[in-house]
Amino acid sequence: MTITPLMPVYPRCGFRPVRGEGAWLISEDGSRALDFASGIAVNLLGHGHPHLTKAIQEQAATLMHVSNLYGSPQGEKFAQRLVDTTFADTVFFTNSGAEAVECAIKAARAYHQSAGSDRFEIITFKNAFHGRTMATISASNQEKMHNGFSPLLAGFKYVEFDDLEGAKAAISDKTAAFMVEPIQGEGGVRPASQEFMQGLRDLADEHGILLVLDEVQCGVARTGALYAHELYGVTPDIVATAKGIGGGFPLGACLATEDAARGMVAGTHGSTYGGNPLAMAAGNAVWDVVANDEFLENVRSTGDKLCAAIEQFIGNYPDLFIGVRGKGLMLGIMMTQETRSFVAHLRDNHGLLTVAAGDNTFRVLPPLNIDDSHIATFIEKLSAGAADYVAPES
Ligand SMILES: *Cc1c(COP(=O)(O)O)cnc(C)c1O
Repeated sequence: MTITPLMPVYPRCGFRPVRGEGAWLISEDGSRALDFASGIAVNLLGHGHPHLTKAIQEQAATLMHVSNLYGSPQGEKFAQRLVDTTFADTVFFTNSGAEAVECAIKAARAYHQSAGSDRFEIITFKNAFHGRTMATISASNQEKMHNGFSPLLAGFKYVEFDDLEGAKAAISDKTAAFMVEPIQGEGGVRPASQEFMQGLRDLADEHGILLVLDEVQCGVARTGALYAHELYGVTPDIVATAKGIGGGFPLGACLATEDAARGMVAGTHGSTYGGNPLAMAAGNAVWDVVANDEFLENVRSTGDKLCAAIEQFIGNYPDLFIGVRGKGLMLGIMMTQETRSFVAHLRDNHGLLTVAAGDNTFRVLPPLNIDDSHIATFIEKLSAGAADYVAPES
């Protein structure tokens, strides 16, 4: 047997973290790395955050799991807080981002079909990432995720990201919804333009279709707003959220308005684990910390400082870097070349974790509670990394 016990779907690197302390990860061999990846925008309070850890410990000792057949005081509490602090009227809890998107897709179809319409098609955008289930890979045009898995789920139409005219032209009498990441994450930290987001909302209203946002990566305070659509002043019908919402505990949710959720009645959807008391304790603890103006304002100002520091630094290396983009603490550094080997160089030779993305961009996604000292250390490591980087022969 040459296969590894862990199914070899990830090309894993030699950095093997066993412990975390705030914005730092400590490897099996004792080496330390500054974690500006945060498990890909997950550990938004860093590692070992006392309030989150305590909430999980106490809930684990009290009640970890019960069936969704029973009443859920823990779920009601967190759902009510989400309803109170967002556009949503109702919430379905999941264990992951893909499941949250899956619920959003089902809700969008059911919205129409429960009212006797046969609309089913969802217009999505090129280089999007919506997850790895059959429905969510079908929702993306990326062939590298499709190969070997045909047939895909029918009913998705792909349009160029940020192309409002294209989106308009794709509407038919079968269209149920638009689904878009306000800021493409895997696609390269590409924020949608104001015109595009507002235009999709207007088109959706005009044609009686829904605006579904995938905020799995950009949501939960990452951009300095609880959800990125707030920065655009655009109100969605349905939002998929996950990643940061559990602060590291597996948790996702599908948020919807009362109208958009009209098809999701008893018996139409479910999840064994979704919304279990342990996950709700994690979500509530995250919300305790992030859902207030002071925290969000701090994310915005820290993001501005980090972005300015990166901008100033990359000016020294015009051969390597093109620029930086993003919002809040969701930043992408655009390079003149592919980014995977530079990301590996930062990790292996300078103890700095970032994440490669599409469009020759790599992501800078620190915990949201970093301070000036972390920014300084990040820039030191990035500078050292740029200074001794030797790009692979292409
Ligand atoms: C990560 C991600 C997903 C999938 O989340 P999983 O928890 O891996 O299923 C979906 N959409 C976006 C935008 C993501 O970044």
